[in-house]
Amino acid sequence: NPPPTLLHPEKWCRGFNHFISQCLIKDFEKRPSVTHLLEHPFIKQVHGKDMSLQKQLAELIQEQQQLGSVAKTRYCTSYSSNIYYSLDDDLVNLEVLDEDTIIHQLQKRYADFQIYTYVGDILIALNPFQNLSIYSPQFSKLYHGVKRSSNPPHIFASADAAYQSMVTFSKDQCIIISGESGAGKTESAHLIVQHLTFLGKANNRALREKILQVNPLVEAFGNACTAINDNSSRFGKYLEMMFTPTGAVMGAKISEYLLEKSRVIKQAVGEKNFHIFYYIYAGLYHQKKLSEYRLPDKKPPRYIDNETGRVMHDIVTKDSYGRQFEAIQHCFRIIGFTDEEVYSVYRILTGILNTGNIEFAAISSQHQTDKSEVPDPEALDNAAALLSIGSEELQEALTSHCVVTRGETIIRTNTVDKAADVRDAMSKALYGRLFSWIVNRINTLLHNAESGMNVGILDIFGFENFARNSFEQLCINIANEQIQFYFNQHIFALEQMEYQSEGIDAATVEYEDNRPLLDMFLQKPMGLLSLLDEESRFPQATDLTLVDKFEDNLRCKYFWRPKGVELSFGIQHYAGKVLYDASAFLEKNRDTLPADIVVVLRTSENKLLQQLFSSPLTKTGTFCTYSLMDLLSKMVVGQPHFIRCIKPNDDREALMFSHERVLLQLRYTGILETVKIRQKGYSHRILFEEFVKRYYYLAFKAHETPLGSRENCLAILEKSKLDNWILGKTKVFLKYYHIEQLNLFLREVM
Ligand code: ADP
Ligand code: MG
Repeated sequence: NPPPTLLHPEKWCRGFNHFISQCLIKDFEKRPSVTHLLEHPFIKQVHGKDMSLQKQLAELIQEQQQLGSVAKTRYCTSYSSNIYYSLDDDLVNLEVLDEDTIIHQLQKRYADFQIYTYVGDILIALNPFQNLSIYSPQFSKLYHGVKRSSNPPHIFASADAAYQSMVTFSKDQCIIISGESGAGKTESAHLIVQHLTFLGKANNRALREKILQVNPLVEAFGNACTAINDNSSRFGKYLEMMFTPTGAVMGAKISEYLLEKSRVIKQAVGEKNFHIFYYIYAGLYHQKKLSEYRLPDKKPPRYIDNETGRVMHDIVTKDSYGRQFEAIQHCFRIIGFTDEEVYSVYRILTGILNTGNIEFAAISSQHQTDKSEVPDPEALDNAAALLSIGSEELQEALTSHCVVTRGETIIRTNTVDKAADVRDAMSKALYGRLFSWIVNRINTLLHNAESGMNVGILDIFGFENFARNSFEQLCINIANEQIQFYFNQHIFALEQMEYQSEGIDAATVEYEDNRPLLDMFLQKPMGLLSLLDEESRFPQATDLTLVDKFEDNLRCKYFWRPKGVELSFGIQHYAGKVLYDASAFLEKNRDTLPADIVVVLRTSENKLLQQLFSSPLTKTGTFCTYSLMDLLSKMVVGQPHFIRCIKPNDDREALMFSHERVLLQLRYTGILETVKIRQKGYSHRILFEEFVKRYYYLAFKAHETPLGSRENCLAILEKSKLDNWILGKTKVFLKYYHIEQLNLFLREVM
């Protein structure tokens, strides 16, 4: 049949989405009749006056609805939309596999508001840059425990798969979300938490409420407005949702990585400090409480006002910041922080803002040019008061330092620059420790002592390449390098190794292995991070000697040093070339706070503050990056689920699809190769014994205990009428979709 007059795809889809949400929200329960459906404006719009087509569509919808699944409604509409153009949910189904076809497919889907696409068991999520009405509780219901193919691809389906796997096999799961800054990782993580909380319906409503407040609270402290993303996460987060053996939510736990503390004291042009500082300043402003916290009401503190005047204008004219402050107070309360704790947090935050306003001047007498003082004591007194420490002691600790030589303590004075550095180091330390404390406190409040299973969600900053890249970018990019490695291991390396050892002749797929690069970073003792730590221990070392050291020791094609720019070096990352500026690398890596400051802060009458500085201070070097390694090894134990977020354009525009930008992201994340291996490969490899243990129900009686033999596996596989599987020497090799089918059968018979 030649297709009848085409409706413009966009129009069709607008109507379609609208229609679906209408169905879901009110029509579904009613199950409208065909006549009723024919009156629906959407149906009427289809093909103008072609009544027979309208009728066909209405009948299809009705028929499917009688089957009781709204999900299928979409299928029948997409079935009839095949008349206009085809929809492919899974790139693995493509017959022609090349970059052009894949991109074309994604582009078509994007224009159609289909932001999600599968590559086998991996989900690709394109940032829609607009709110879609596909995340309501109705949608959570729609995706609950059904076969993946009954619905269009969706992030809820991925969350559901992880949850079902956890419940069925009592095994921890982890969901790894990756992508560039602004690609949609954090939103995706929220949606997963939303669906998991829906699935793990605890009787305990209060607990569910609490869990939903965690992200907003942590993000107020850990996110900031950057040039790329207004709500950019400036820390890495691994959130574990804990469940009872029957799958009810029982708690949550967060681990944080590499908070970008330097943002507290300075932000690039067009960027801002952490959200919480604006919230609190605006909140106090609107509540007329600024004076209580010793903050000026004409001009915001220096740390939050890098574009003089702009911030104040926003705060006075818009009250959204103020409302956010109220929301944060609410979060604190729901999660269970005491009023005293919250008050201490506010004192510390406003203490930091006042600290930033402390200025120094040189005292020049004939002999001492390197001495500094605080000419205007106002900010100093304010900061000291809010931090509940002595003002004079604080001044001392900022403008001088003790040196111990041969058992003797000598006091040395600080220059103006040095004093300012100490001040800023103190602010960073205060904020960093406060952040960790909040995270730990949340964990205590939400953690249930019983052991259970968990689904972990990794949302960590994406690859960064700015005009100027510093220590923070290096740490972030190394973290991404590790995640990419983990992805490669799972998708390619492990799979191919097993084909060989099991004597299976399966196609090999070439992929970009970033192992050598990772070795360059992490090897001991000659990897970049080891060299950095080593150099950080030499008091005489400078950023220049550091770069020299890199150049002398890192002799590989991934590292180079551009001519003419002393402090810079380049790295060829898996995602592209990045030029780093090594200034302040050593200082940032040392991340030390002068002992004098610690001593003063420990005298604080603020109990929380005392606590923040009571733990040992020294941490060794790039401890954070190594701790990410620990995290990755922890994740390896769980079964991974990957979500690849893609940013369709750099202008945050809805419906704009930049061919070039998407292509780049597809390339460096290895999507094309992933499609190939998912098409040809067997992503699940299960030992005979394990397979029989899991699935014997499908072919044997419940009381039987069949041996974990090849024959019994065969019996189960044949009974379940699957095809395309292979039996190796010790393992069953399955395609990604088999597992879903088997689990579904299993749930049916159990
Ligand atoms: P990332 O964490 O990868 O840096 P975010 O998750 O913060 O990126 O997303 C950046 C912005 O993109 C969000 O603030 C939001 O405006 C938009 N966005 C991302 N995902 C979605 C989505 N599923 N629906 C609507 N908007 C989204
Ligand atoms: Mg984010």
